[in-house]
Amino acid sequence: MRAVAGITFVLALGLSAAAAAQQGPWFGAPLPPKGLQDPPQLNALPKTPRFVQPAGETADPAFAATRIMADVRTITGFADEMERTSQFWGRISGTPAAAKTAGWVAAQLKSAGVQNVQVQKFSATGAMWMPTRWEVRVLADPAFGPGSRDVVLHSAMPTRGSSIPTPIEAELVYAGEAGSASTAGVRGKVAIQHSRPTTGAFSTRSQISSSARALNEAGAVAVFNWIEQAGNMHVFDFGGSGNAFNLGGADGAFLKTVLERSGGKPVKVRLAVEAYNRAGLTAENVVGVIPGVSDEIVVINAHHDSWFDGAGDNADATAVLIALARHYGRPENKPARTLLFVSSAGHHSSGMNGPAFLVRDNAQLLSKAVLVLNLEHVAQYQLRTDPWRVDPTEEPKGMGVSNLAPVLMDAIRTGAPRYGYTTSRLDASVPGDLGGYAPLNISRVQGIHSGPLYHTSGDVWQSISPEGLTRAANFYRYFIDVVAKAPKEQINPPGSNAPAPARGGRGGAAD
Ligand SMILES: [Zn+2]
Repeated sequence: MRAVAGITFVLALGLSAAAAAQQGPWFGAPLPPKGLQDPPQLNALPKTPRFVQPAGETADPAFAATRIMADVRTITGFADEMERTSQFWGRISGTPAAAKTAGWVAAQLKSAGVQNVQVQKFSATGAMWMPTRWEVRVLADPAFGPGSRDVVLHSAMPTRGSSIPTPIEAELVYAGEAGSASTAGVRGKVAIQHSRPTTGAFSTRSQISSSARALNEAGAVAVFNWIEQAGNMHVFDFGGSGNAFNLGGADGAFLKTVLERSGGKPVKVRLAVEAYNRAGLTAENVVGVIPGVSDEIVVINAHHDSWFDGAGDNADATAVLIALARHYGRPENKPARTLLFVSSAGHHSSGMNGPAFLVRDNAQLLSKAVLVLNLEHVAQYQLRTDPWRVDPTEEPKGMGVSNLAPVLMDAIRTGAPRYGYTTSRLDASVPGDLGGYAPLNISRVQGIHSGPLYHTSGDVWQSISPEGLTRAANFYRYFIDVVAKAPKEQINPPGSNAPAPARGGRGGAAD
């Protein structure tokens, strides 16, 4: 009974300084990992159902799960290469990693039998913010418990536009939930706000960005956006609201615990960000043609650039694009309409939107186009956040047909269940890489998701479902065959394509 009473007493009064000292460093708070950490749930993946080829169809070896998965790993490898020498990595347009990816895709398309393969270079219309080095260091104090040493928060990722060339030191203050964060007492301090997204962090972007801006305007010297997800991941996005860093799950939890146990003792951090606005960058689109019976064109697009490894955004769809090229590259699969394969750049980078430059630089070719199909985020395991777990299926894709043409809607309604391609909605909304194609005023089609790993360092090849890649390749092959044969007036019913304003060389949909 005495022991129980003792515990109750400590809980009721909070930890005394003496109790804190007994708990060891940092008031006994669990220290975050010494590096980035992908969600541990990715280490024990469930088996998804095996792909079953519908009766009467022949399986194409180009669509084998292992074959496409090997390409996903090669593509994410280009980002890994950059990671070895740079704190900021990805297949980022304007960097050698993206140029190398484009060159590799071009070689794959050529050997698949795609004709007139070109790597089309273009110049960015504006400068791009690029961080080169940064550090977020929580400063130790002997009063925090014996053995307390500085803790570097490895998940910290500066948001777009942040710049702290000379290190600053300031006290931390907890500001509450993103979207309703309190600006009281944040002047001269680093304010931390919390968000626990139920899907991708991108879904909470308006709350995070608006509160970050308000905290900076109230005099905070910087803002920490603690994105509570599994592991300890970098999160990109939420830029343009002053100096701010996104923090991963474990780093944020550490700060929260330390602040709770500090008993009002100031906890200080030291911050620095070296970043540049890089002008004069160039990026690469890869294009090539498989001639069909007709010279009317169906464009098949997948963006190859990424933040971090970008396995589900968009190595998976780039690998499926290549698989489709291998399928249609064989004479026996000659399509009814000509297929224009596009591996586009700059989806993530302002001033480098690949499709917009493609449309600008290939006007004559694209005057023959009747439809654009965009492959984006096609085969990631379905991750759940409450609690964190991986379901034995793939993230459902929101399907969009910009002009709601019945023949295209029917092809999706029939084809998706036929090949086990998981979907959620089916409507006219086409966010993602299709904006740059809007000036063509033709039907634009895609499926896309933005699950919990979207724009995080946890978007690694292990998160991709091999069977899901096969499902995606078979489904899109089916869809392309339907489109290739459908009469033009059914793909673009008169009056169905409302003219949309050109997007020029602006950035993609995301941040
Ligand atoms: Zn994407």
